[in-house]
Amino acid sequence: MNDAVKKSKNQIFINVRLDKSVFDLTRLKAKRKVHSVPVTEILYADDVCLMADSLDNLQTYLDNLDHSCRKFGLVISASKTQVLKQPSRGKTANENAVYLNRKPLDEVGTFSMSSESWEELATKRTEWRTAVKTGLENFESTRLEELDSKRQHQKTRPKPSYDYTYDSNGNLYCASCNRTFKSKFGFASHARAHARRDQGMS
Ligand SMILES: [Zn+2]
Repeated sequence: MNDAVKKSKNQIFINVRLDKSVFDLTRLKAKRKVHSVPVTEILYADDVCLMADSLDNLQTYLDNLDHSCRKFGLVISASKTQVLKQPSRGKTANENAVYLNRKPLDEVGTFSMSSESWEELATKRTEWRTAVKTGLENFESTRLEELDSKRQHQKTRPKPSYDYTYDSNGNLYCASCNRTFKSKFGFASHARAHARRDQGMS
């Protein structure tokens, strides 16, 4: 969730203040002392509910979550995912669908959960957490292995050497096209470009 939330902007914000008189709503209109907190998700038993103030934002958020899940070896079930639209007063809902992996998600009119099973589902949260934890650990070890082999690869790769050529004024210049250079770095990148061009021709 954290991974997806980091990538998602345009969230719904609520105003909160943590000092006295929690129930005096006019106090939330104060400019100072009121914090704006993004409401990104509601966790309910073993479900997660994403919220956004437009269909586009929801789609982006869902795409981000889907992407993050895959990264950690998890797959969101499209058949268990539903969309609830809540248009503002006097407006009709945007009719477009929200897609998960190019599949349009089912829409529902209410958000409900079976009162008989929710306690049982909530207890499965431990299993769910374990699945996430294992996925995360696997992801991390694969990532570290890849990093390691990359580093190894870079270490074993020979350092390129360049034949720095200087003209009579002591300036670096290219023997093939007489271009002069202010730095060894510029010369080296130019030499690499030559090498690429030569490779391309052969
Ligand atoms: Zn050259």
